[in-house]
Amino acid sequence: MKNYNDELLKEFEEKSQTLYKQLKSVGPILKASVSRRNYTCGKMNCRCTKGYLHTDLIITRKIDGKTQTTKVPKSQESEIIDRVNNWKEMKTILRKITNTQIKMLRIANVKKAI
Ligand SMILES: [Zn+2]
Repeated sequence: MKNYNDELLKEFEEKSQTLYKQLKSVGPILKASVSRRNYTCGKMNCRCTKGYLHTDLIITRKIDGKTQTTKVPKSQESEIIDRVNNWKEMKTILRKITNTQIKMLRIANVKKAI
């Protein structure tokens, strides 16, 4: 009978390979948060004075504890949202890779103890 831990190790090994492939296939990334900011422009007869506010897509990120905010041009909104989503996907894959690695280390520790 084959060692159960060896089987598990092999399984995690394969899982790691799959995750690294997924990591390589992630598109361009942007490590930031996206949100919408509504505002009035100040022009007297603008629709925004009647409650139809203007809206901007903004990205924020922390630099040395301070939040940096950047407005995204309308023409680049979908591209920027895609990039931020790619970053989230990458983060998920990185977490899975780390989890797999930790599990493999724990199995290796058990094997040594036997
Ligand atoms: Zn306005």
